[in-house]
Amino acid sequence: MASARDLLSRPNSPSFLESLYTGKLQWDLLDPFPDQDAADRAAGDHALAEITRFMTEWIDPESVDETSTLPAGFVEELKKRGLLKLGTAERSGGWGLTPRNIFRVVTEVASRSVAVALIIAIDNAIGISAYLPHLPPGPLRDFVQDRVERGAVSCTADTEPEGAANTVRRTVAVPTEDGDAFLITGDKVFVGNAPIADVVIISATVTEQGTTQRRLFFVDADTPGLRVHAEHGFMGLRGFPNGAFTFDRVRVPRTRMLVEEGYEGRMTRTANLATMLGRNYLIAAPSLALARLGTAWAQDFASRRSVDGRTLDQYDEIRRVLAAAAADTFAIDTLTTWTMVQPDLDGPVNTAFEQLAVKNISSLAAWRVLDRSMSVLGAEGFESGPSKARRCAVPVPLERAVRDARGLRISGGVDFALDYWAGRLVLPTYYPQPRPAADLDEPEDLTGLSTQWLTGRNTDHARYATGQAKELARFMLRVRERYAEADELLAAERVVISVNAVVNEILTMAAVLARAATLAEAGHTWPQGLADVFCADARRRVTDLWAAAEAAVSGDEPDHTALCAGLAEDGRAAGIFQHTSVPAHLARAEGNEQ
Ligand SMILES: Cc1cc2nc3c(=O)[nH]c(=O)nc-3n(C[C@H](O)[C@H](O)[C@H](O)COP(=O)(O)OP(=O)(O)OC[C@H]3O[C@@H](n4cnc5c(N)ncnc54)[C@H](O)[C@@H]3O)c2cc1C
Repeated sequence: MASARDLLSRPNSPSFLESLYTGKLQWDLLDPFPDQDAADRAAGDHALAEITRFMTEWIDPESVDETSTLPAGFVEELKKRGLLKLGTAERSGGWGLTPRNIFRVVTEVASRSVAVALIIAIDNAIGISAYLPHLPPGPLRDFVQDRVERGAVSCTADTEPEGAANTVRRTVAVPTEDGDAFLITGDKVFVGNAPIADVVIISATVTEQGTTQRRLFFVDADTPGLRVHAEHGFMGLRGFPNGAFTFDRVRVPRTRMLVEEGYEGRMTRTANLATMLGRNYLIAAPSLALARLGTAWAQDFASRRSVDGRTLDQYDEIRRVLAAAAADTFAIDTLTTWTMVQPDLDGPVNTAFEQLAVKNISSLAAWRVLDRSMSVLGAEGFESGPSKARRCAVPVPLERAVRDARGLRISGGVDFALDYWAGRLVLPTYYPQPRPAADLDEPEDLTGLSTQWLTGRNTDHARYATGQAKELARFMLRVRERYAEADELLAAERVVISVNAVVNEILTMAAVLARAATLAEAGHTWPQGLADVFCADARRRVTDLWAAAEAAVSGDEPDHTALCAGLAEDGRAAGIFQHTSVPAHLARAEGNEQ
């Protein structure tokens, strides 16, 4: 059965991240750093202009947020304009945009309303148009092609009330007696676009001929037995239609089941490939939009707010905060340029591993930006936009942005759980047999990176990143002595999570440095400072991450297990943790009805 690594790896297409796992930074893959070509950019500019006009005409973001409602007729308008199939050819009613331009469109829409951006992103990222290129010729492909051409809104229903992290899906598809169809029964929750979908892609467990597999089914939403039984209201992303399904013996022809090779991941093999770019559209694009806004709002506030006669941007600490926000935004922009300009797994450079990493890197960086901006704006940041508007203050919607951004760290996988799952990609380099790079003991080699275009500080960061990649390999080799089997290491979750977070930091450092060098060669020296600030902060995070990993490996750390066991014991923590507005269902369990 194929692993995630097997699925993403391409023997003839080098991967920067895969090489990093072995301890080697292949700077020549990153430098010269790619950029969108002029013709494609122009095509994207045209689409952006049109969509921006459309958004201004239709969407008042504060009203969508306050009422959790979209304007009447808006979804129909999205369909009519082909906005749900931006990558589909124009002859089939789409826009024929490249992934880079789809990403730009979603970012642009998100800068006005993340809720609306997600409607568009869902369909383009994990809807039927995303699956179409991955479907083999046959009746299923014909069905999907037909629905795409009709402009159907679609969604992917995978998460179940028991939790998305579970490998098993309780929704079952049972073959009918004649074997021509399946009856699907089960529940799904948190499904984006569910309340407005015409077609639902359902993951379900199928047992046939003694084999149990997870399969995908493509089902019209008006099929009897299929219903949306609830709409979810979230802390943020209000107005984004998201709902729960119940399937009660929903009859689906066998031809609507996607038959594919076995795969050991949480999603099916095709879902993984189809939704690869989806993380960029669904998470990274809104993250970039929010990071840009957060940076701009903080800069604006710092220039207009004075403390004791000096504007805030004259203060040392505020300048550091503003610089860090700008550097994080540059990092998201850089990494998504890397993943979006060359999205093809079989292209000259395989960016598949980076496509996975971009979700956590972008959403966490955006969160840092907004959290810092919130502190800069103080109470005005915490206050809602409409409240500020009512008293004629600048109605910056930072409060809404923070609520929206938090969801990006959950949707598609909770951040630290995702670090854990992604951390598994490193393992095949070291288990069962270690295959690290050959030159771990050699001095840091920056061949391939145009260091002549980097400042001394940035060259030092590049040397550090190269050294950290080797450190990763050395750490993994040492860890093998402690955990002989991969499963033992996987049980040490803090180690796996920390290692993956280090990998993400090294990747991002390398990308911003390579881009800074390429831009400097073209005469733009200003990104050097952004790269420097990002790398300096990343180095502090890396130090912390290694400390956490080393402590977990050595055991020289607090006894978290004993502490948790103690917390559960009656009376142990009375007065500190109990009877302080405990959730109602816990209070009832304690016999306290109040
Ligand atoms: C805005 C939004 C849009 C969404 N859109 C869709 C959609 O279109 N389709 C769809 O199917 N779903 C969708 N979801 C669901 C989303 O993908 C899940 O919420 C997400 O994957 C997290 O799953 P969960 O909430 O079930 O929590 P789980 O993944 O079950 O996690 C619960 C807790 O367990 C922890 N955990 C999990 N595994 C481990 C482990 N190995 N070790 C330690 N801790 C662990 C997690 O970190 C978390 O703290 C959406 C969710 C949101 C918020």
